[in-house]
This record gives sequence, C-alpha cells and structure tokens, in this order.
Amino acid sequence: MMNYPLTLVPILERAGSLFAPVEIVSRLAGGELHRSNYREVYGRSRALAQGLLEAGLRHGDRVATLMGNHHVHLEAYFGIPLAGGAVHTLNLRFHPSDLAYIVNQAEDRFLILDAAQVPLLEKFRKRVRLGKVFLFAREGDGVPDGYENYDTLLRGGEEDFSYPELGEDDAAGMCYTSGTTGRPKGVLYSHRALVLGALALGLTDALGLSGHDVILQLVPMFHATGWGIPYAATMLGAKQVFVGSPLEPEILLGLLESEQVTFSCGVPTVWLRVLDTLEKHPGRWKLAPELRVAVAGSAAPPALIRGFHRHGIQPIHGWGMTEIPPLITMSRPKVHLKNRGEDHKVELTMKQGLPGPLLELRAVGERGPVPWDGESAGELQARGPWVADRYVNLPDEKNRWTQDGWFRTGDIVTLDAEGYMKIVDRKQDLINSGGEWISSVDLENALMGHPEVAEAAVVAVPHPEWGERPLAVVVPKGDKQPPTDEFRRFLQDRFTKWQLPEAFVFVDEIPRTAAGKFQKSKLREQFRDWKW
Ligand code: ADP
Repeated sequence: MMNYPLTLVPILERAGSLFAPVEIVSRLAGGELHRSNYREVYGRSRALAQGLLEAGLRHGDRVATLMGNHHVHLEAYFGIPLAGGAVHTLNLRFHPSDLAYIVNQAEDRFLILDAAQVPLLEKFRKRVRLGKVFLFAREGDGVPDGYENYDTLLRGGEEDFSYPELGEDDAAGMCYTSGTTGRPKGVLYSHRALVLGALALGLTDALGLSGHDVILQLVPMFHATGWGIPYAATMLGAKQVFVGSPLEPEILLGLLESEQVTFSCGVPTVWLRVLDTLEKHPGRWKLAPELRVAVAGSAAPPALIRGFHRHGIQPIHGWGMTEIPPLITMSRPKVHLKNRGEDHKVELTMKQGLPGPLLELRAVGERGPVPWDGESAGELQARGPWVADRYVNLPDEKNRWTQDGWFRTGDIVTLDAEGYMKIVDRKQDLINSGGEWISSVDLENALMGHPEVAEAAVVAVPHPEWGERPLAVVVPKGDKQPPTDEFRRFLQDRFTKWQLPEAFVFVDEIPRTAAGKFQKSKLREQFRDWKW
C-alpha cells in the first residue's frame, strides 16, 4: 500500500471538489447571517495558507486565533495547518492574564482575530510577544494601527499556492485545557490525530454524521477543535451553521428551525435552557423530526435526557477532554440492549458509554485495573491514536502518563459488564465524608430532576466532624425557594442518609468555567467558611 500521510489536505480537497455548493452559514456578532459555501471555504483557506507563507510563517509555527464561531474560523482551521502551522485556538472566556500566559507559553507567532475580540486582545497585548496580528473586520470598516487586515492577507488568492510537504505527525492544532482543575495546560494535535478523530466521530455508532446532515456548531471552536465536529463535517461535505455566544435559547431554537438542523451538540447547561424554553412555548418552533443532539462536557442529567425524548430529539451522551479530542466515549445501546423501554434507555444514556474504535480504556484503582462490574470505581486511563502524550513545555506534568504508556484522565469511573463507562466524579470533586466517598455528579443529576430545580451543583465543604460534607447549591425554577425538607424527601429513595446534602443554599446563578461547566472550584472557595 502507498505510504500516504493522514493530513487535513484531502479533507479540504474533497469538500472543495465534491461539495462546492453546500452552504456554510455563520451568525455573526451583530446577528446577521453570513452565507458562503465549501467552494469559498476551499479557496479562502488556501489563500490564507499562501498569505501566511508570504507573511513569513515557518513550518511548525503556532498561529493563535481569538475568534467566535464563524466561517473565518473554519478557514483558519484549514489554512493554518495547510501552510505547515498549528492553529492554536484561544479561549475567549479566559481572563486576559491567563491568555497572556498561554500565548507566551505556546510561543504563538501570529494571531488572527475578529473585530468583536479587539477589546479582549488590547487587555493583554502589551504582555505578549506576537509577530503579526491580523484583524478580520467587516468590509468597509477600517483596521486600527498595530493590526493588519485579514482580507489583505488573503488578497493574493490561491493561484500560487501549492501544499508544502506535510507529515502526518506534524502539529496541526493546539488547545489548552479550560482550567477547571488548575492552570491551563497546552496540547498539540497532529494532523493524523485530527483526521482519525474526525473519521471515528462520524461513524454510525458514534455521532452518525453524514453529508445529508445540517450541523449547528455551537460548541465554541476554541474548545478542543469544537469537539472535532467542524473537521468531521467538512470531511463529509455536510452543511454547517456556526453560532457563538450569546447562546440564548431563542436564538438557538430560531436557527434549529430556520436551517432545519439535524445535528447539534453542546454542554448540558445550554440544552437544559433550550428545553425549558421549548416547554414554555409549545408548538412555537418546528424542529427537524430527525434532530440528534450530542451532549458532553459534563454529565447529562436524566431530566435532560427525558426532556429530549419528550420532544422527539435523540440525545447522544458523550465524554471527551482537551487531551483526547474529539469525543471518546458515546452512549449508544448495543443491539441486545435496544427496545427495553424508556427507563432503561434513560439509564443507559446517562452513562458516558463505550469507547470508539482504536481507543482503549481501563479504570485503575489502588490495586490495579478494577473489574467491569459497574460497581468498582477507579481512575479512567486511556490510550489510542488521538490521546495526548505530553503537555507543551511542561515536563513536570509527566506523571499524568503511566509507566506503561496510558494517560491518566483524572476522572473516577466505573465500567459495567458490557463495557459502558460511567463517570462517578472528577477526582477533586468527590466528597470525602468520614472516609466514605460521595459522588457530587449523582446528587446533582438527581436534584436536577426535581420540578422546582433549574440547576444544581454539589460541592464538598469542610466539616468539623466528618472532614467534608456535601453542600447543594441550587438555582430554583420559580421565584419561590422550595422547602429543603422537600428536597431531602425527594432524594431519599436513591441515596442513604449520610449521602444526602447536609444543607441547601439558593443562588441566582452558578459560576461557570470558560467551557460553560459548573465551576465547582469557585463554589468550594465561596463556601469554604460555611457554618453548618
Ligand atoms: P477541563 O479539564 O479544564 O474541564 P476539558 O474540557 O478538557 O477541560 O474537560 C474534560 C473533562 O470534562 C473530563 O475529564 C470530564 O471530567 C468532564 N466531562 C466531559 N464530558 C463529560 C460527561 N459526559 N460527563 C461527565 N463529565 C464529563
């Protein structure tokens, strides 16, 4: 067989030649819809690659992006790697000092940003060493001093462009963890990892993507290559609709309806709000009957899964992380587990699921790998062709990899007899009550099933007698605070007494991480001195 490197080149070539008229729609910051297609994405990505080479890009250079979700970001996803660089997507929700640290640590050479992010860049620009900064502004809008015009970069066109030599192990992308558990750490993605990840992601037993799909991309493109979906979608020539924050439910529902979206994805908190809005306005939006939604990033509570079912939307629960992009496990029923009724379906979908092809998982406890009995918990470890083998410029973090070459995910899980993985908790979120462990995820999932609870996060708070006890932080649905005894009764069926939250507090909002997850580290800090 030919020794043909797995790079992003044939992915873009295929989209450009076979799917040229298929639409790429972007909802821009002002709310207007920009429509282009793969023909344009193809030409402009190649023009970007040519422009970057002319601007002095060297093989292996990192080019940062500071952009929302739109067609220009998609061009960067291809144009930068195809010129031999790595597209380093910066997280728009990071604090400017984190961004300064990251740009310097990653040694980013150039940066591309859209006009909406100029104020953010200005907050840390003086603290970073960047070569050129290219600004994508609206036609007719000027480009301030210190910026170069992105459109000028593309003006040379693609005529002179020919692909530089690219190896499949060359870096193509880069992303930093969102810092839920400490300082953000950078990971480089090879061409090979992105290609294989995209192939696996689209499979029928994974997200089941196809060129017939209309895909609503609302996962930020700065987050682990937007969970790999833009690459998989382009590989298949599927129509893509890009939308960035604010992720208001009405905006999302409007797009789901107007573009007749058949596939979308996102963290549970976004979809809980979408479902809530759907329920408040029955019949207002006519969604595509075959709509599927992948939920990942944090655990999908059963109330969310049942809500999807009620509206004829198929949820696919997945698990992934920055170090292993895109999604790794997916909760799909094996053939003999199908058609067993709603409760069973919900139970199965609540699990994070089975690993995709080519990925290996094991759960390791103190005495080695734990049995697949659905009970024994251990730390999840993974290996495979798109699992990171190091962090960028952080040799001290070597202990995240075992001697025998597995990556330690930091998630505590069980594996059942069928191989379905279930997250018990992140290591640092587990609650140690008198030496016994309590899963914050289980309590949150159950609480979010209560009709008067909009959102709930459970965290460990120091306790004089027990070491730690669970504190439930609840956002009520209505204006009234429900009596907490009612919650205790509600949880009693599923939890023994010592596992129940010791106290409940009501808040208007739960702090979120840059990826939209509950920021439990912040809650722990906030309630550290809580008086029981
Ligand atoms: P950070 O580690 O900073 O949160 P990531 O986005 O890489 O940034 O987060 C990956 C983590 O998110 C996983 O290790 C896991 O704890 C959590 N996670 C992802 N998907 C799920 C899921 N479906 N259920 C529970 N936790 C999840």
